[in-house]
Amino acid sequence: MKILLNKTSLTKSLRQFSDIGFVPTMGSIHKGHLSLISKSNQICSKTVVSIFVNPKQFNNKKDFKTYPKNIKNDIKLISKTKKVDFLYVPKLTDIFKNNKKPKIKLIKIDKILCAKFRKGHFEGVLDVMDRLTSIVKPNKIFMGNKDFQQLFLVKKYLKKKYNTDVIGCKTIRNKDRIALSSRNYLLTKENLIIASKIIKKLIVLKKNIKLEKNKNKYLLSVKKDLQKRFKIKIDYLELRNTDNLKLSNVIDRSRLFVSYYLNGVRLIDNL
Ligand code: AMP
Repeated sequence: MKILLNKTSLTKSLRQFSDIGFVPTMGSIHKGHLSLISKSNQICSKTVVSIFVNPKQFNNKKDFKTYPKNIKNDIKLISKTKKVDFLYVPKLTDIFKNNKKPKIKLIKIDKILCAKFRKGHFEGVLDVMDRLTSIVKPNKIFMGNKDFQQLFLVKKYLKKKYNTDVIGCKTIRNKDRIALSSRNYLLTKENLIIASKIIKKLIVLKKNIKLEKNKNKYLLSVKKDLQKRFKIKIDYLELRNTDNLKLSNVIDRSRLFVSYYLNGVRLIDNL
């Protein structure tokens, strides 16, 4: 595995290859990231992973400061897979310097779910994905269904500019059904017990919601109950169509989207 610290050396190394799979990450590598790497390694002849904690996608300074970072361990874990050919670890200036791009704006119908609660977040995500894609020039990008809205918006945005497939990959969970996430490193044992109880409730809810006539109205009352029971703040609990992310009243082609805070840490998931 070759580690590259700037775009000039990365571009040089990649020039001769034409079947590149790309896994963008913000580090604090876990088995969710490793599953994307495996997928890329199965499908593409070369795999590039990036580790870059993008400050532009944090709408909250404290969240950026406390975001878990562990580059030494990340390199160890990624190298151990023997499935990554190039690891790109750029500095802030390598991505953002001397490269003015028109400001990305979300359209009104996209300002839902996390876009409604984290102002500027997806603008930052789309900006960095645009920059990384223009540097790596991948044939395929592998991203997690765990961040489904991110996957949806990146697909939609990159389609307009690049000839790159964005492939959604399944969410990896721990034995307690909690979706793996770098943010889980910020949770206490007690928080994790609550997170497990919540996700198990949501799994049952997703099965039973079939019987409800007005599903999103029912979800509002479930949201209130969960907030009270677990003393948490829930940003949203909504059933939405996976093709267009519109509110849905059927189970088919729909997912239950949730975001809530535990110990000041914002978690998201979908089922
Ligand atoms: P992050 O480092 O959190 O920005 O995530 C990098 C990529 O890994 C994104 O495409 C995420 O959707 C994906 N990812 C994060 N958690 C998981 C998970 N538990 N299972 C599968 N993919 C994940």
